[in-house]
Amino acid sequence: MIIMKADATEEQIEKVVEEIKKCGLRADVSTGAYRTVIGLVGDEGKVSFDHFAVLPGVKEAMRVEIPYKLISREYSKLFEGAGESMVIKVGSIAIGGDEPIFIAGPCAVESKEQLFRIAEGIKKAGAHILRGGIFKPRSSVHSFQGLGAGGQDEAREALSWLGEAGRKFDMPVITEVRGETQVDLVSEYVDILQIGARNMYDQDLLTKMAKKGKPILFKRHFGAGIEEFLSFAEYIAAEGNKDIILCERGILPVGKGKNYTRYTLDLAAIPAIQKETYLPVMADPSHGTGRRDLIFSMSCAAIAAGASGLMVEVHYDPAEALVDGPQAITPDELKEVIDACQRIHQLVASGKADEKG
Ligand code: PEP
Ligand code: MN
Repeated sequence: MIIMKADATEEQIEKVVEEIKKCGLRADVSTGAYRTVIGLVGDEGKVSFDHFAVLPGVKEAMRVEIPYKLISREYSKLFEGAGESMVIKVGSIAIGGDEPIFIAGPCAVESKEQLFRIAEGIKKAGAHILRGGIFKPRSSVHSFQGLGAGGQDEAREALSWLGEAGRKFDMPVITEVRGETQVDLVSEYVDILQIGARNMYDQDLLTKMAKKGKPILFKRHFGAGIEEFLSFAEYIAAEGNKDIILCERGILPVGKGKNYTRYTLDLAAIPAIQKETYLPVMADPSHGTGRRDLIFSMSCAAIAAGASGLMVEVHYDPAEALVDGPQAITPDELKEVIDACQRIHQLVASGKADEKG
């Protein structure tokens, strides 16, 4: 990490970037309220920090050992002063701002009619962003794989419905990209790209998606520790794309016998991650529990824990849903969730304001 002096000139910054490139590394330039900090992206073992320390305009050159320095709150304090949390704007929606944001929609897009009916329902319930899976990660090859599995034309058609529903009901849209071959196609239609839990470790996919320059919702793998999760988010940031929304969606349950939940929603991870990074953190109580009767409680708990919003699976007739019906709630139930979460958020925010005096 190279910390520039507060009065460093553009030319001096440019010179440091050039020197970094000469070493075969890339530079991540962050200009904050206080100063410019340049992160080295690549194998830092190859460079002599003493060489950088004596360049004009450089205040300090130091080796940073943490694997997610580009998204780290601690290091953002060097240029932002207070290490401010980041707000990601998607159209008129601000993720990580003063209000919790609700992403809702079907697990899988099944038909145009189904998608539009759900989109209308979630909009009325107060949701901000429409989700709908088109390429579904499934444990069994014998189950519905999403309309995208039908081929390029079917995928394009389903994606166009998503875009159309978003425009009609005035909501940005998000869908999962499951493989590298889908990146270009999906990017044409959606506002936010989703990386599913199973693909958290796919660095080639992460890199390719990051280059699109669109916001990315990045889900934690069910077996990943927090440091691992953030280290892989760093692959996205390393491409110069810091519009990363982290999503806690549950880790593998432990012990023998019946677990009663599909995964264990790791709520402590929310504030723990927020201390480590300035990126917004959301929670997914649907996959986190696998049970519609637990969505209300866990949504409230996640917002109380400080989540910037939720991703919730919704279907007007959960029993009919082709994928994940047992964890889907109805639009009416979503409204109850959103109303309660908004009240809880206000309570927690006013408590924090009191604390600060
Ligand atoms: C999803 O959100 O559609 C999904 C498949 O979730 P996850 O990647 O967390 O399993
Ligand atoms: Mn699902």
